[in-house]
Amino acid sequence: MKKPVIAIDGYSSTGKSSISKVIADKLGIIHLDTGALYRGITWYALENCSNEDGSINIDKLISQLNEIHLEFVNNEGELVLYLNNKNISKEIRTHEVSDNVSLIAKQKEVRAYLLQSQRSIADKGGVIMDGRDIGTVVLPNADFKFFLTASIEERTKRRYKELLDLGIEADENQVKENLIERDKTDSEREIAPLKQAEDAIVIDNTHLTKRETIEKMLSYILKI
Ligand code: C5P
Repeated sequence: MKKPVIAIDGYSSTGKSSISKVIADKLGIIHLDTGALYRGITWYALENCSNEDGSINIDKLISQLNEIHLEFVNNEGELVLYLNNKNISKEIRTHEVSDNVSLIAKQKEVRAYLLQSQRSIADKGGVIMDGRDIGTVVLPNADFKFFLTASIEERTKRRYKELLDLGIEADENQVKENLIERDKTDSEREIAPLKQAEDAIVIDNTHLTKRETIEKMLSYILKI
């Protein structure tokens, strides 16, 4: 039997990636965190394509896209992101990357560059992919589509804790501003904006634990 293709979209810090990881383990399928790819390109841009004032030179980045090779490597069950053979899994979670990623993600060349590899990963089935445009653009024929949402207060608390757990200093207000700003840019961009697919199952997990959210999603997938 072909394993399912599952798309998870939604607002920032609704738990998409950590939830997808657990579901992938339970179903024996692959998990792809597409946000990490956009973050990887952003980190590359900050390192290699900065203007003197610290902003990113978008034209320079676009001319160098073919030099960016992103790869997930399985390290004892943990997928680690490598950029041109350097482990960048911690770097992509920094504030600098979070503050710039939506600007990079709205560039049509960047989206086109990442689209085909995301699609080819799902060709054989057995994948859960999380992001912003998975159910609408990347995998419109996915077997299951979910759209996660939660209150901004709850999402701020979760992201703040996640950063502290990663050993990254954070200010709760700045975290909140970044989430609001990113959701706005992501929803308003011209290409592949963040939006719910018409046939997506919407789950508001403001008052649900991670486990309860997973159980609810599995009840649709396994029809229990
Ligand atoms: O999921 P995460 O918060 O790590 O995503 C970081 C950013 O990457 C998002 O705010 C968005 O700008 C971009 N993104 C996207 N399309 C996706 C996944 C992420 O534009 N499929």
